[in-house]
Amino acid sequence: MMDDAPDTPHVLPPGLTLVATPIGNMHDMSARALHALRGADTILCEDTRVTSKLLARHSISIPLRPLHDHNEDATIPGILRDLAAGAKLALVSDAGTPLVSDPGYRLVRAVIAAGLPVHAVPGANAAVMALTLSGLPPHPFLFLGFLPPKDGPRAAEVARLKALEQAGLSATLVFYEAPQRVAEALDALAAGLGADRPAALARELTKRFEQVRRGGLAALAEGARADPPRGEIVLVVGPAPAEVASVESLDDALRTAMAGMSVRDAAASVALALGLPRKAVYARALELARPTP
Ligand code: SAM
Repeated sequence: MMDDAPDTPHVLPPGLTLVATPIGNMHDMSARALHALRGADTILCEDTRVTSKLLARHSISIPLRPLHDHNEDATIPGILRDLAAGAKLALVSDAGTPLVSDPGYRLVRAVIAAGLPVHAVPGANAAVMALTLSGLPPHPFLFLGFLPPKDGPRAAEVARLKALEQAGLSATLVFYEAPQRVAEALDALAAGLGADRPAALARELTKRFEQVRRGGLAALAEGARADPPRGEIVLVVGPAPAEVASVESLDDALRTAMAGMSVRDAAASVALALGLPRKAVYARALELARPTP
């Protein structure tokens, strides 16, 4: 929804501004993002070579300071001093939205703890774009970043997800994955979550060879071996299929929920948890709520 913010970008406020940059297509650099970078005293960036190219493209000449996983903690005190003195600092990563599988979280936490301002200029993000193109339920979704690269820890992580699903988690799962490991990752997901679980492999989003492959986990794994997907990849896995709820378990769930909330809210939350049609669950909830003669 549009609000009445001015059409022209306003002056960059003091504080730390997280600025999203493109994930491949340079035309996704927003006017606000450019304005924020132009207005910064210093740009904190993951890799100065990558950000220099982006700035050169837009004829922006602002000092860069590297901020990556290995120096983030050591850099924070100096950044906090600069912010306390009124500096305007922008933070970018190599691509997409900073902090999302990228550095910056520890800095943001420190800036908030120090009571200093943090702003963000939103933009491209591979996880959300893949989710929207997957054809799988967009919410709730759980973003998990990269799976562990080695077989043992990866299988353990998939087993943990399976256990969460058995305990009631029903969400679309989103992972980042490297192309050389994607077939193994799909195998592990198929073994742990089910060969037929609907999924999507989205690659090279916003770029020339953008592609979304959709299908069951095992079929996608087979496809990844037969025709290895190159480039940058997001895997999206549909939620666990709803268990067919027995009438007794539906009634039990409704009675428990109605003890703490309205009939309408109880029906909505039970329908969501059990993956059942809302109307039917609401009708059953009304029957249960009716006083017995
Ligand atoms: N901060 C970024 C974002 O907002 O999406 C993600 C950074 S993470 C270090 C890089 C991973 O994101 C890649 O290995 C890939 O899994 C995913 N990714 C980034 N760009 C992508 C693209 N254009 N298409 C598909 N996946 C992409």
